Amino acid sequence: MSKAVFLDRDGTLIRHVPYLHHVEDVQLLPGVGPALRLLKTAGYYLIVITNQAGVAYGYFTEEDLQRVNSHLHRMLQEEGCRIDAWYYCPHHPAGALSKYRLACDCRKPGGGLLTLAAQAHRLDLAASFTIGDRWSDVQAGKTGGGTGILVLTGEGRKDFRTAPGKGLVFTHLLSAARWIVSKGGSCFAHCL
Ligand SMILES: [Mg+2]
Repeated sequence: MSKAVFLDRDGTLIRHVPYLHHVEDVQLLPGVGPALRLLKTAGYYLIVITNQAGVAYGYFTEEDLQRVNSHLHRMLQEEGCRIDAWYYCPHHPAGALSKYRLACDCRKPGGGLLTLAAQAHRLDLAASFTIGDRWSDVQAGKTGGGTGILVLTGEGRKDFRTAPGKGLVFTHLLSAARWIVSKGGSCFAHCL
């Protein structure tokens, strides 16, 4: 079985823009290319897991979402990074569109998409990491049976202040990637 790093999209790989659905708004965060190359070289599957409730609210369609994901996939390829798979949750229990109005297991902090990806790619969830800028990302990683990491990009600083000391915290994706690969460094949370 392979190990994976599950990556949140908004605020972790790209600049946080609420309900982003225009490719022009996609902007890679600093250090993302080197971070993903480091993880890939270390043998991790790279899988994006993203909540996209904007679909349920009717702000944009799944086609819009897929267009943005494809654009980001190409941007990352140009950085020498290959994402192995993309998963998204379009649901929300308070969604405006009945088709997507659902209290599902695939919306983080649920671990449904991690489980789905693990089955599809034969992944060892216990040896895998989930990185994101919300505690719900961290919780999804734990629910899946692996390790969750909060990064302080995007909404991360805001979420961190709500519950400091709740888990592993790094300033950005590159510092988290370095720690995962080395497992020898000290993380931001341990320095507080
Ligand atoms: Mg996010």
